[in-house]
Amino acid sequence: ARQSHIRNFSIVAHIDHGKSTISDRILEATHTVTERDMQNQLLDTMDLERERGITIKMNSVEVNYTAEDGETYIFHLVDTPGHVDFSYEVSRSLAAVDGAILVVDAAQGVEAQTLANVYLAIDNDLEIIPVINKIDLPAADPERVQDEIEEDIGLDASEAVMASAKEGVGIPELLEQIVTKLPAPTGDLEAPLQALIFDSTYDSYKGVILTIRVREGIMKPGDKIRFMNSGAEYEVTEVGIHSPNPIKREYLMAGDIGYVAASIKSIRDARPGDTITNVDNPAPEALPGYQPMTPMVYSGLYPTDNARYNDLREALEKLQLNDASLEFEPETSQALGFGFRTGFLGLLHMDVIQERLEREFDLDLITTAPSVTYHAYTTDGEMVEVSNPADLPDASEIKSIEEPYVLAQIMVPEEYVGTVMELAQGKRGEFETMEYLDKQRVNVKYYIPLSEIIFDFFDKLKSSTRGYASLDYDMDGYRASNLVKVDILLNGDKVDALSFIVHTDFAQSRARVITAKLKEIIPRRNFEVPIQAAIGSKIIARSTVKAYRKDVTSKIHTGDPDRRAKLLDKQKRGKKRMKSVGAVEVPQEAFMAVLNAG
Ligand code: GDP
Ligand code: MG
Repeated sequence: ARQSHIRNFSIVAHIDHGKSTISDRILEATHTVTERDMQNQLLDTMDLERERGITIKMNSVEVNYTAEDGETYIFHLVDTPGHVDFSYEVSRSLAAVDGAILVVDAAQGVEAQTLANVYLAIDNDLEIIPVINKIDLPAADPERVQDEIEEDIGLDASEAVMASAKEGVGIPELLEQIVTKLPAPTGDLEAPLQALIFDSTYDSYKGVILTIRVREGIMKPGDKIRFMNSGAEYEVTEVGIHSPNPIKREYLMAGDIGYVAASIKSIRDARPGDTITNVDNPAPEALPGYQPMTPMVYSGLYPTDNARYNDLREALEKLQLNDASLEFEPETSQALGFGFRTGFLGLLHMDVIQERLEREFDLDLITTAPSVTYHAYTTDGEMVEVSNPADLPDASEIKSIEEPYVLAQIMVPEEYVGTVMELAQGKRGEFETMEYLDKQRVNVKYYIPLSEIIFDFFDKLKSSTRGYASLDYDMDGYRASNLVKVDILLNGDKVDALSFIVHTDFAQSRARVITAKLKEIIPRRNFEVPIQAAIGSKIIARSTVKAYRKDVTSKIHTGDPDRRAKLLDKQKRGKKRMKSVGAVEVPQEAFMAVLNAG
């Protein structure tokens, strides 16, 4: 009987359309949190999420809602991130729920991640409730957005909820639609246990804590469980739900979303996508899991203090528990020492991981410029995967190099189509198609090298379309390109961590921009530091960091005490993100100079 009163759903949308704010309103309307404890974007529990105002992690919460029919329903709500870099979170959550709330901004309309997320929901056979949010905005045009939802997506939007999460408008109607339009979960309580793991975190007391959706059967403390893919076995120590704080339960049953702890020490035993069953009454087969994510970009992570290499490894292992898409393996650099080549789903993901490592684990890191994975074919017919430009074999040993391409979909009002095409062509894009989504908006498709997308395509796209364009992309395989490796020499020494791979046509111009940038970034010393860019032994660009004339440190001694303290402090903080390479101090920004140099 309880099962018919459960509704499991995710909230999905393009970034900033209001998912987290709608979650807040649902928590309030259902009195899940007291007024005193309520704060904006409550489910964004990470400091980083709150500061940046973005959702990085999915978060699930159980709320109780008394409907107009007088019955009380249990909602399991999963708030998800909107940014393309975190779509793995969205896809994992959608496999665990029965319905989706699709939020569309009443002024912005349907955007690239609206489409991407709605297709994920459709792939999972989810019932979808459209919500048009921010109807309070002066630029809101709910009828137009209603048409867009019908024309661009093909969803019936005649009963779309008209909402202003900011002002609390439309929330009662949304809650009713959740009850009446979304299906209750199915699943047999008597059947052998089958539970899907869709997220995990680490707790120093309880071990790995798994977020699960129970599909069949029941799970309770004391049960012996087996992970069907890894084969590991454990005894359940605790089950419960989040509301939003953890609350212990006596059992979880088919249809429930909750957490389970079993003193699990290793994430390898219990990966997201694995199925939990009962050792004494096992299910015949595992549930379909998840496609593993392929990282889009790689960069090297190095502790500024070499002695903290092991701390960095531990931190990455712990973080991996909370971020199933993170990948890393040890690498060494002549310039930077011991570190890890780390794979990310995009630049925002990279930025977030670096910041979480520094904050949550108190590390100071140097991150090298992101690189895609190239395929280098050697003269003896081998294929070498190169995700660190420094590892590219010598030009004399290479027959050809291939790079990853994506099929990029750019949604844009028609007046910007020309601008978008010009930009895509300048980034080595190859036109695929263009289709009108509705009267004003066009979906332009280009094949573009992933490396160009990563560098500055998105920023340029946003600025040249006044923010109107949105971008989504999928991998589209490898293609041969005319690529070369450019090395950077400081004071005559090659710095491996600064090497980059670039199309031959752009090598010279990019090398010039980078040597000029490095000249500004590298601190002056009491001797001259030549900066050179080279292809093989051929120098293609150069600049020089001049020696300083005056002794800068003398200022510290002559200044007033307050100013001196400030200067010393500034120097100390600056030091943290620097690495000595030979006699030259190289700050963190230098390693990123290759970005935005196109
Ligand atoms: P998310 O990225 O989809 O989770 O979006 P958020 O919930 O974080 O909201 C993004 C921004 O839009 C925040 O600044 C919200 O305060 C604002 N916002 C959300 N809902 C509304 C609304 O109904 N009206 C207005 N004017 N602003 C809103
Ligand atoms: Mg959010």
